[in-house]
Order: sequence, then C-alpha cells, then structure tokens
Amino acid sequence: MKKNNKCESCLMPFSQDPGIRESEKYCSYCFKDGKLCYEGTDVKEFQKRSYESMVAHGMNKITAKFFTFLITFAPRWKIKK
Ligand SMILES: [Zn+2]
Repeated sequence: MKKNNKCESCLMPFSQDPGIRESEKYCSYCFKDGKLCYEGTDVKEFQKRSYESMVAHGMNKITAKFFTFLITFAPRWKIKK
C-alpha cells in the first residue's frame, strides 16, 4: 500500500508541515485535537479559509492563490457522490 505523503484535505506535503501531525491522512493544520478543523463539505468555504490563513501566516498572495486552487484536487473533496 502506498503511504500518503500529502495531506488529503489541502495537499500540503507532510515534509513541509511545521506542526506535529495527529493523523495519517491530514496535516497538522487540517486535523487538530482529534478532529478536522473544518468539518464541512463545502470545498469553496474550505478554500476561502485556507487562503485567509495562508495569507495571515505571511504567504505571498499569488502563492496562496495557487495552493488554494490545488485544494480542488485533494482526495478529501473528490470523493463526493
Ligand atoms: Zn492539510
């Protein structure tokens, strides 16, 4: 079985995760204190929050927009029926 090396929610590579991961599937931003930080199913809402948090953490706006766009392809949001 292939081991995940990226967050299934936001696609951040675990190698770049500055926090302590609690989940095999999610990064330390998406999954904290035993649960997902954003438990909704609206990818647009999640993207908005992620973008705001990336910019708040000092990320360049263009880069933040790019990562926000990539979230659309994360496994968590693909498995919609
Ligand atoms: Zn994540």
